[in-house]
Amino acid sequence: MIYILAYLVISVMISFFSFGKRISFFGALMINIFLTPFVGLISIIRAKKNIITHHYKMKSVCTSCKTETKEILDFCPICGQNASVYYTEINDIKLAYK
Ligand SMILES: [Zn+2]
Repeated sequence: MIYILAYLVISVMISFFSFGKRISFFGALMINIFLTPFVGLISIIRAKKNIITHHYKMKSVCTSCKTETKEILDFCPICGQNASVYYTEINDIKLAYK
């Protein structure tokens, strides 16, 4: 009984190495349980890293009153100042599994 428990604990621990790789935690866990943790570890090491995509969006910020607008404007809709700063921000990070 203790051996089965130790086997499962090792399987779960090795499955944690799958984070950031193109193999899911559950998939790695199934390999570890049914094909031994040794095979699971090799599978995780051989799996490629995730592709991380960054999503950028533009917005303008008034330099006078700090009002943020989603669209790019030359003039601030609140105070009418023509000095606006445009910049990009990271909107979202998605992990691509394959
Ligand atoms: Zn303004």
